[in-house]
Amino acid sequence: MKYVVDVEDLVKFFGKIRAVDGISFQVHEGEIFGLIGPNGAGKTTTLRILATLLIPTSGHARIYGYDVVEDAEKVRYIISYLPEDAGAYNRLTGWDYLQFMASFVAKNKKELEQMVKEGAELSGLGDRLRDLIKTYSKGMKRRLVLARALMVRPKVAILDEPTAGLDIIHAVHVRNIIREYARKYGITVVLSSHNMLEVEYICDRVAIINKGKIVAEGTPKELKEEYNAENLEEVFIRVIKNESPTSHN
Ligand code: ATP
Repeated sequence: MKYVVDVEDLVKFFGKIRAVDGISFQVHEGEIFGLIGPNGAGKTTTLRILATLLIPTSGHARIYGYDVVEDAEKVRYIISYLPEDAGAYNRLTGWDYLQFMASFVAKNKKELEQMVKEGAELSGLGDRLRDLIKTYSKGMKRRLVLARALMVRPKVAILDEPTAGLDIIHAVHVRNIIREYARKYGITVVLSSHNMLEVEYICDRVAIINKGKIVAEGTPKELKEEYNAENLEEVFIRVIKNESPTSHN
């Protein structure tokens, strides 16, 4: 198979709002691919379509060859989705939550125990896993739900703003986890972020998205060279300012 994720001319309208306006991109196996762009650019909408939660107005998205609309069940089996605003169950402890979530996926008790053990390590929450989730800080909750998304070792992890709301220390921890875990198990990752500097660190390839359209795509290095920029933030500003990459200076 050529691509793990293959998005072709995706369009999504919400009433008159054109949230996604003809987006196409491909992701290779084991790659960490970032959709970056400002608020309202269409990142979440694109990821929700990939996660089979929204039906596109037109266009196609396939994951391992399965169409996200027609083969939604099969897609759900091989992906793990971390929503931007993922909630956990406040009345459960972190341990109970991981066990509960693993129970949907694990084929037997041994696999369940392994998943929960891995989830616990990924979360980095240690003894606090014994406490009720309602006593966790925002950052702790985020680490728990990210651990949940990764512990099942999905073929494709779709992570919407994985470090949203985290302080710098915890954001770095989460970034390292995503990178290491994806590399270790060959997991393909599609993530979104409006933090262009973090994406530069974590992603193999990125697409810059603005007003529902991809306006630039490449490795962070390629983009910085093409736009003669120090970092992806600068690339973004130049892309938006100049329609064509040849007109920047
Ligand atoms: P952010 O970084 O703020 O999360 P985003 O890039 O993820 O932004 P989207 O959430 O995909 O952007 O939103 C794209 C556009 O679609 C915005 O104009 C938003 O208001 C609109 N939109 C998204 N979801 C809905 C919805 N359910 N109903 C109506 N409009 C929506």
